[in-house]
Order: sequence, then structure tokens, then C-alpha cells
Amino acid sequence: MGYSKTFRNAALPVSLTGLKADSDLVLCDIEVSDGKIASVTPCGIPGELDETGGDIVDLGGRIVFPGFIDAHTHLDKAFTWDRAPNLRGEFWDAIELLNRDKDNWTMEDLYARGSFALRCAEAHGTVALRTHVDCGVDFGEVSHAAMQRLREEWADRIHLQTVSLCGIETYMEPKARRIAEMTLEYPDSFLGGMPQMNDALDQQLDYFFDLAADFGAGVDLHVDENGNPDAECLRRIAECVIRKEFPHPVTCGHVCSLAVQNEARALSTIKLVAEAGIRIVSLPMCNLYLQGRPADGGHRGTPRWRGVTLLHELAAAGVLTACASDNVRDAFYAWGDFDMFEVFNEGVRIAHLDNKPNLAASMVTQNAARLMDLENYGALRPGCDGRLVVFEARSFNELLARPAQRRELYGFACSGEAPRYSELSLEEV
Ligand SMILES: [Zn+2]
Repeated sequence: MGYSKTFRNAALPVSLTGLKADSDLVLCDIEVSDGKIASVTPCGIPGELDETGGDIVDLGGRIVFPGFIDAHTHLDKAFTWDRAPNLRGEFWDAIELLNRDKDNWTMEDLYARGSFALRCAEAHGTVALRTHVDCGVDFGEVSHAAMQRLREEWADRIHLQTVSLCGIETYMEPKARRIAEMTLEYPDSFLGGMPQMNDALDQQLDYFFDLAADFGAGVDLHVDENGNPDAECLRRIAECVIRKEFPHPVTCGHVCSLAVQNEARALSTIKLVAEAGIRIVSLPMCNLYLQGRPADGGHRGTPRWRGVTLLHELAAAGVLTACASDNVRDAFYAWGDFDMFEVFNEGVRIAHLDNKPNLAASMVTQNAARLMDLENYGALRPGCDGRLVVFEARSFNELLARPAQRRELYGFACSGEAPRYSELSLEEV
């Protein structure tokens, strides 16, 4: 049994309501019954606050978001910064540092960090989250088992999805079928990986997509996370999906290099991505952090680019686009707190989404839910999950101007206060 409440005079991002309005926000009354949205009715100007009381809350025109959806994270790596800091902030250093840290990844360690991560996410208003999980022919069983433990324990609070992560070529190794098996034996799981440009890329992709089709699995890949204009894995994936008529959902994360390519070439790739029905998830904070650092780590000067992909152009072409946390307090990204309001806020600044606040809002709610194929999440419509995040702000300008503003959670099992750092103490081998 969920909660029941009526909210009067709530300002809703119009794209999340399915209503028609000329403004970015539409003022509505929302009725939540038994944990689900029962009705969303446009109302006039903000009313008097005297109706507040009992099961009625007058919000006086404050902004309401649905529970956030975080479509790309790494719970297995999160909160390892203290024992595996990335002092040069460089991408390949991060891979090496976390490979070494894997000796620490026992069930207890993964569970402790994963639980802490989900407590942070929930306290900030997140209701669903997808995590990638590092795998290999001889590695990953414990990680997947830890994620399954979290998925079961958190089933009523955060909907958890898992994706395998390894080099795409790894799937061609003998016994690599085991990677797919250890991932897909659990519900809500997908096949993923990190393709790199090389002469055998098309064969590797063919093999990977055949394997996914064999298992009937959706796909979520780490793609072109660099500033090299010749990195065109995204294009090759789109061609592969079209060539094979791959029938399951395909998501590509990062796709940074698209932003440094020749305009015509980038737009033609975007056209292929739209045709292939590929969904794109951008990780703006992690990209801003990692991109623009030379691979030799020698130069410590000012970065010249933002690392973010062509979100405006992708969205304009009809591609489903979302933004997500990615790494949190590990060698790939030093900070973060599984806070999708921070992702929204930073995403707007980094990608200049200020003139498209509804797109930005949808990227952390509705679009992200669609990317994860979660029906009735991420939107403010009858039948949807009734967990709501209420901000102090009454306009997008107020919302973006004060990142530290108070927010109230309704329908969540927690208070809205993030756990203390002291509650996470990690053993090191
Ligand atoms: Zn990632």
C-alpha cells in the first residue's frame, strides 16, 4: 500500500505531463492514490495556502519532478576513491587503478559500497538505476551476486538493472559465453562492453550482437569515450544494428568523439543512430572531468573542450537521449553522490540546455525511464509511480540558480537526508 495525497498548485515540467501548454511549466493539481498518480488536472493561478492540511498539500506553485531515473552508473566501482585515487585524472590510469582495486571486491565490500550508493540515490529522489558491472571470463560472478542481493533487498525502493562490462573483443574468447550467462541469469540484465576502434571491430560487433540475439538480450555499450575524431564506434554499431535488424533495445553511452567530428560526418552518423533506434546516454559530469586530459598525464593545463556529446543534435534528430551519473567517487570521477538533480543542473550548464529545460528535465526522468524500458516511471501522468520530488523553486531559473536548494520527498521510504560518510568504512586487503 502506498501513500495517498492531493497536491494543489504544483508546477510541472510540461513534457512530463503529456499536457499541451505554451509555457515550460504547467500548474496542476496532482492526486496520488495508493502510491500511484491518479489524476493530473491543470489549475489556474496558485491558490491560497489555507487548504493545506490532512491529505492536501498546497505547493503554491513550487516545481515537482517525478522520482529520478539514473540510467548509467557503476555501483561496483563507487566510493573506492580513498583507496584508489586517480591523481592524474586520466582515463587509462582509471582503468588500471580500478583493475588493481578489484582484489578488494568481495561480496561484503561490493554490498557495503552498493548499499551506501543506493541510500544516497534514494535520499536524492531516485527510484530506478542501471549499473554496469565489470566482468571477464574469470571475473564478475561475485559482483553480479552482490548486485542481485541489492536488487532483491531494494526491490520496493529502487528498481535496479545490471549490464555486463568488458572489452567487446573479450566475448570472442573461449569460454566467454560464461560472461553472458553470469549476467543474464538475473532479471533486468543486459549485455554491454567497451568497443575500441581496430581492424576487427566489425567482426567483434557482429559476434557480440549475434550473442545478444542468441540470449534475447538488450545491449548497453560504452562508446567513443574520447576526443579522437577518428573514433567512430557509434557509427559502426548503428550500421551493425541496421545490418542485423537487431530486435532488442540498444543503448550507447558517452559518444564523446561525435562532438569533435566534422559536422557533416557527425550528422550523418546521428541519422544512422536514429534509423537504428539507438538510445544515447550522456554522462556530462564524468566527461567534463576525464576528457581533455592528455594520455601521458604530463600536461596539467587548462582543458579546451567539455567532453559532452552532441545532445541538441541527437535530440533534434529524434534520438532518445538521457543524462546519468556514471562514476561516483572512484578513479573515473572523483566526486558525485548519485544525485540526479546535480546531474540535471550540471548537464544544463555543460551542454547549454538552458533554452531547453524540458528536454533537460526529461533526460533525468522520462527519457531515462524510456531508455530503461520502465513503464510508468519518470512521468507525471495518471498510472505513473507517485513518488515525487518537490523543490523550493517556482521557475526553471530558480531551480537552476540554487543547486543546494531544499527538496522534499513524498512517497519515499527515506527521509531525504543522505547517509553520513562515516557510515561507510571499507576494509582493504
Ligand atoms: Zn560508465
